[in-house]
Formats: sequence, structure tokens, C-alpha cells
Amino acid sequence: MPVLKDQYHRVIDYLRISITDRCNLRCRYCMPEEGIPLISHTDILRYEEMLRVVNVYAGAGISKVRLTGGEPLVRRGIVDFVHRLAQVPGLTDLSMTSNGVLLKEFAGSLKAAGLARINVSLDTLNPEKFRHITRRDKFHDVWAGIEKALTVGLSPVKINVVTINGTNHDEILDFARLTQRLPLAVRFIEYMPTGNGHWDNDLVFTASKIREIIEEVGELVSINGGKITGPAIRYRLRGAPGEIGFINPISSHFCETCNRIRLTPDGHLRPCLFSDDEFDLKPLLRGGGEDQQLIEVLRKVLARKPKQHEITDVQFKKCQRGMSAIGG
Ligand code: SAM
Ligand code: SF4
Repeated sequence: MPVLKDQYHRVIDYLRISITDRCNLRCRYCMPEEGIPLISHTDILRYEEMLRVVNVYAGAGISKVRLTGGEPLVRRGIVDFVHRLAQVPGLTDLSMTSNGVLLKEFAGSLKAAGLARINVSLDTLNPEKFRHITRRDKFHDVWAGIEKALTVGLSPVKINVVTINGTNHDEILDFARLTQRLPLAVRFIEYMPTGNGHWDNDLVFTASKIREIIEEVGELVSINGGKITGPAIRYRLRGAPGEIGFINPISSHFCETCNRIRLTPDGHLRPCLFSDDEFDLKPLLRGGGEDQQLIEVLRKVLARKPKQHEITDVQFKKCQRGMSAIGG
């Protein structure tokens, strides 16, 4: 299996594909109430085009793919797409990030199609607060989706909690206790200046503060000897079936171990979530480009991958694309 490295010698083996910019929620930190200007249907990559990119890049060293969005489950034909992706030689890990609204309906067929695991975004366990944060009354659908994902054996099921000071920081213990009851991996994510919502430093609830709160209910035992294997630093409350993870893009750089690149719904390959550097694959995909040319773009993207993001710099400007059109 070939190994892809960037200029800082990081192994890059992970592609996140945002398959749509459409979404059935309107999370305040991600999208405005009226939604965002949508990418036209003709500009959105067809599944065949995404499959070609994955096939070519899997041959070059990409072995993990995560589907995200927008909301990946709102795109028609998703189960068949997952099924075809799962057949791509060289892909060893296929996962998805979803808001969970449609998961109850899809979990079984996604698992049967070859999806290994799923991350569900859920920032509150309170249905009223859910309605406030997402502007939609869908808490119970999401919860039913999480239960279904556990039942059909998607494993692990991770819960992403964007922790915002003054919004949901008072639920940290409730989420921690959930891991004592269910085999869920709850990951607290620091609020980042990427979406369409208001961001300022005071809204960030740091991982170290979250840890202090959780340690009131029990001892956090580190998993993997505290080694960072992905963006999360992982723990378990002693004796709990579930896990607790911290993703700290703001309070500490996780860029050193970054292994990923991103493909946007309209076919732009991005070296980093936090910069607007991107390369359009569509002219090659729709203009008879050779596989080798797709690989040349991949190499350019790797060469442009920054050493680290600058989001805590005073000079930092929010990316032009919102999170829903990049894929968080
Ligand atoms: N719609 C799907 C979902 O919500 O899981 C997938 C796309 S969403 C953009 C991916 C992840 O990005 C979600 O977990 C969401 O909470 C997170 N996200 C969006 N805006 C964010 C922000 N400003 N800071 C931190 N995380 C953010
Ligand atoms: Fe939709 Fe996910 Fe953005 Fe919420 S975070 S509006 S669910 S894309």
C-alpha cells in the first residue's frame, strides 16, 4: 500500500467527503435561519464522480473515508453510494458524520451496505434546548436514531457535542453520565470560528474546564496511554461502557497529527478545514482528465497543507465557506 505524506512528514490517509451542502437542521453556530446560498445541482459532484476520486486516491494511499455534509442522509441514493464505496479496493474504514434526524430510518441499511461506524452530532439532551440550538423540533428523532445505530451494531457510535459557554456547558455531567449507561463515545468539541454563527473567545468552553467538571463524578482513565491517535484525546470514566473524548482545536493545536484532506460537494479538494486554499477537481472529472492528473492535484494539495491552523491568531479571518459546505 503506497503511503502519502505531506511536506511536514505527516501521513495523509483520510479523506472527508461532504456529499451535500443541504441540511434538515439550522444549528445556530453553523447556518442562518434561512439556510445558506446553495450550490447548484449541476455543480454538485455526482456519486460516480466521487467514486472515481475515491478509487484513484485509494490506490495512492487514502484508506479511510468519512461522509459528511451538510447532512449526508438527506442526499438521495446514499445507501447505494455507501454500498459502492465499501467495495473500493484499499479502503479499510468507511464512516459518516450525521445529525441523526433520519438515522432511525437508515441505520440498518447503512450497516448492511458496509458503513462501519457513525458520529452523531448532539449538543443537548434537553428537547427544548435542542429546538433552540437547531431551530427544529427533532430531538426525539435523533435520540431514536442513536438507539437504532447501537441496535444494528454500528460501532462505535460517537456523539459529537460542540460545547458552547452559556448554551450547553451546564450539561457536561449529563453527557458524561451517559457513557456510564451506554456504550457511546461522547466527544466534547471546542467551538470553532468557522460557521455562520457569532463566535468569540468567551463562547469557547475549554477541554481543561470540561475535564475538571467531569472529574467530580469519577476518575477519568486514559485510553491508549493518553496518546493522540486522531483529533480526540480519549478517556473512560472508571468502569463505564462508553468513552469520553476531547477535541481541542482552540486550546491546543491538534494539527501535528492531522492525517486528513477534504472534498467539498462541488468537487474542491482542501488541504485544511481552516483555510480557503482549495483545488477544483471538476474540470478534470468532467473534461476527460486522466487518473494521473487527479493524483497530481492530490500531491499539490498535500504540498499546500499548512503546518497548523491560525484560528487563535488575532489576524485570523473566518473561511469563506461555512462548515456545512466544507464538511465539519
Ligand atoms: N450535518 C452533520 C452533523 O451535524 O453531524 C454533518 C456536518 S456538520 C458541519 C459536522 C460537525 O461540525 C458537527 O458535529 C457540528 O456540530 C460541527 N460544527 C459545525 N460548526 C461548528 C463550529 N463552529 N465549531 C465546532 N464544530 C462545529
Ligand atoms: Fe446541519 Fe450539521 Fe450544520 Fe447543524 S451542524 S446545520 S446539522 S450541517
